[in-house]
Amino acid sequence: MEIDMLIDLSVISFLGMLTIYIGNWILINNRRSTWTRRNYEMNRQRLQIEIDLITDRRKVEQKKSDHSWNGFRKFEISDKVKEAKGIFSFYLKPHDRKPLPPFEPGQFLTFNLHIPGQKKPVIRCYSLSDSPNHPDYYRVTIKREPPHNKPNILPGLASSFFHDQLKIGDIVDVKAPSGHFFLDMSSHKPIVLIGGGIGLTPGLSMLNSVIESGSLRETHFFYGVRNGKYHAFKKHLQKTTLENENIHLHVCYSEAGEDDIIDKDYHYGEKISVDLLKQHLKSSNYEFYLCGPPSMMGSLVEELEAWNVPVNSIHFEAFGPATVKKTSTEDNKKSVSGAETVNVKFARSNKTTSWDATQGSILELAEANGIVNIIAGCRAGNCDSCITAIMDGEVKYLNPPGSPAEDGSCHTCISVPKSDIVIDA
Ligand SMILES: Cc1cc2nc3c(=O)[nH]c(=O)nc-3n(C[C@H](O)[C@H](O)[C@H](O)COP(=O)(O)OP(=O)(O)OC[C@H]3O[C@@H](n4cnc5c(N)ncnc54)[C@H](O)[C@@H]3O)c2cc1C
Repeated sequence: MEIDMLIDLSVISFLGMLTIYIGNWILINNRRSTWTRRNYEMNRQRLQIEIDLITDRRKVEQKKSDHSWNGFRKFEISDKVKEAKGIFSFYLKPHDRKPLPPFEPGQFLTFNLHIPGQKKPVIRCYSLSDSPNHPDYYRVTIKREPPHNKPNILPGLASSFFHDQLKIGDIVDVKAPSGHFFLDMSSHKPIVLIGGGIGLTPGLSMLNSVIESGSLRETHFFYGVRNGKYHAFKKHLQKTTLENENIHLHVCYSEAGEDDIIDKDYHYGEKISVDLLKQHLKSSNYEFYLCGPPSMMGSLVEELEAWNVPVNSIHFEAFGPATVKKTSTEDNKKSVSGAETVNVKFARSNKTTSWDATQGSILELAEANGIVNIIAGCRAGNCDSCITAIMDGEVKYLNPPGSPAEDGSCHTCISVPKSDIVIDA
């Protein structure tokens, strides 16, 4: 009897252990297959995102080539919206009502403006400040260049024309979007967008593009501005940050006003610096996009390089003469900074003058010598207005142009003579 009981107990405990073993085995296998399924699903989703991105890029390229245009196209100002003190956005619809080509977030438009009292059309570039996902309009946001404290210096010509004279319904002549300073939308690498003053416009286009694409890319937006009066797109930026976990907004006021409230209107009462970036970034492994006044960009680019950010991860654009040079372009500096003097002949004006590095670009040399037939536009190699034929000799570019000039011509605003040259001006 006792033996029978012992056998029963052993059988029961054996069966119990077997049940536990089988249970564990099923559990582990279930987990394993759930994990495998999840992994498979994640890989499938990743692949799908990649496929969608490639398909989207193809569609964008197709639309670009279908809808782009050469030369200047007529646009109607469809809206004019105040964004902050001295800053207005202009919404532009094509006068022919045909669809617009998409652009890369960060690119700009070039305007050919007929300003009353000006003998020649005035050429100026303005960055597109919204994402490319609006096929029926483009938007630019323009700061009025106010008069300086010197009585003989007038307010900015084009920006005042936009602010004071252009109104809804007026027509302007615009070149197709261009420029090399744009966000690579096919990459997932985290990004840092830095805008100083009106230099927020290309970064804003990039930011809106990231959000609208549904990308979860980690994005930091550093915006440096004097104070609340000049703080453009405040509500939009705050809303965007609240609604998107991957977007981090850092607003710096350099001269906060009495009404400005920290942590409500802005985050820091200081200028943007790499020390500030380090407080928010996990490492220096980001793509950096900068646009702002030359003083801000000069110091930030140097500090980023000192923080071991690779030169090709630092992207910047100057709104005026291109003054920032990365150390990688040290060669450029060396080759133009010697005391070497070369002769520059402006053939059509029949004037020969000597050039050394202190005289800057060929355009600056021309202006200093009263040569009037080179048209100055952006002064940063972007708008192509200053392209002039080189009749003899060679030039060297200080910065890459927005798009290359034809063989035998150069962007005079960003090039210097390499040897004695003859220019068709
Ligand atoms: C790629 C690119 C994108 C840009 N994007 C934007 C943008 O999104 N928004 C924006 O607002 N701007 C942008 N700009 C700048 C814009 O193109 C113009 O340079 C700007 O609006 C000033 O032009 P303006 O005709 O009003 O001023 P200008 O008449 O060219 O004068 C510029 C400044 O120089 C001063 N000045 C004029 N004459 C003299 C003189 N003799 N001596 C000393 N100073 C003088 C003026 O008072 C003014 O402050 C961009 C520029 C580039 C190259």
